[in-house]
Amino acid sequence: MATTSRSQIWHERAQHSIPGGVSSPVRAFNSVGGTPRYFVKGEGSRIWDVDGNSYVDLVGSWGPMIAGHAHPEVVGRVRSTLENSFSFGAASPGEVELAEEIIRRVPACERVRFVSSGTEAVMTAVRLARAATGRSLIVKFAGCYHGHSDALLVQAGSGIATLGLPNSPGVTVGQTQDTIVLPYNDVVALDELFSLRGDEIAAVITEPTPANMGVVPPVPGFNALIAELTSTHGALFILDEVMTGFRISRGGWWGKYGQAEGWTPDLFTFGKVIGGGMPLAAVGGKATVMNILAPLGNVYQAGTLSGNPVATAAGLSTLELCDEELYRRIDFLAEEIGQGISSALTEQSVAHSYQHAGNLFSFFFTPQGVENFAQAQQQDTQAFSVFFHALLEHGVSIPPSAFEAWFVSNALSDADVAQVLDAARHASRAVKDF
Ligand code: PMP
Repeated sequence: MATTSRSQIWHERAQHSIPGGVSSPVRAFNSVGGTPRYFVKGEGSRIWDVDGNSYVDLVGSWGPMIAGHAHPEVVGRVRSTLENSFSFGAASPGEVELAEEIIRRVPACERVRFVSSGTEAVMTAVRLARAATGRSLIVKFAGCYHGHSDALLVQAGSGIATLGLPNSPGVTVGQTQDTIVLPYNDVVALDELFSLRGDEIAAVITEPTPANMGVVPPVPGFNALIAELTSTHGALFILDEVMTGFRISRGGWWGKYGQAEGWTPDLFTFGKVIGGGMPLAAVGGKATVMNILAPLGNVYQAGTLSGNPVATAAGLSTLELCDEELYRRIDFLAEEIGQGISSALTEQSVAHSYQHAGNLFSFFFTPQGVENFAQAQQQDTQAFSVFFHALLEHGVSIPPSAFEAWFVSNALSDADVAQVLDAARHASRAVKDF
């Protein structure tokens, strides 16, 4: 067994200063049990904890580390930028260059405003949609995560026309009463809602492929239907590409699939990869909508550190590494790892559903394919915990929750892939024996 005594000491110490010892809940290992590892170093495909254990990293900071940790080009650009100050709280060239690069990659995104987290980006998109339409209702899908702003911390009511209920204490009914939650991939519910209340809807927000309940690809035509219904009823379509943006392709999910299928959202949200691991996110979209933001319009949005030079340098430098070759390679790696793990589980007769969309993938320990959140919740999370810990013990770090996507980086070597697949064979046996 790898020693985790130093991580344990840090985690006990952290309890006295940070609630639960963590800055974001999933990191506490609450759903899988055991000691969360405290990390001190990352290089390429690997990360090291305070006890000196190293792991092949299949979390990648939940997406941003697409080029691997501490890539020399990103480190160099960040270092030379920060020597000239971390932040001015004023306009600087890096943000213009990053905005231009995003627009080049995603032409449907005509203007970009930078913020510091995906949560803020979505919050701003919702505000913009309400201001642009003069309507209140926001439609979201159960199991999609759009950050922790009040209006989106909602769980489904009992029917499609019922109001959303807060799913966290501290969020009032007033803050969620204009949010409607539908089951994902439910074409009939979406159609019905629009025929009942289409003229009250400000926006539909969705992940282009949900990856925050595990990976659940859209049924064919689902995103196109959202685009058609929103456009017909005068509502906006917010495509939340915080996770998929610049990970699925040069132009995100939309650049690979949306454009080809002939639909276009009104607003996008981006995060993760565009900051290369620094706190950076963005809302973007049609100029007619974006230009109602202050100072051109009167929709207020602001941020002391928004678009700061160090974050934009990390983002620009990371995007420069994200060329066609990188996407070909990470698609290949994701498939090699995903298929390989699925085969290892099948060899041990472990019931599972290997689900993938682009290079995002995850495993549900359930025999049936998963199309929505209710089905995702049927999975055997105990089996996942066993699988998770066996992988960790064999030096492979995956998300510490059964409801998350796994992330590959371009820094993974053949030896890393071999280690992951070997660990997966051990982990599959552990799940079978449990
Ligand atoms: N939207 C999506 C699709 C996400 O995956 C996330 C984060 N996982 C967010 C929004 C929120 O981003 P952040 O954690 O940067 O606030």
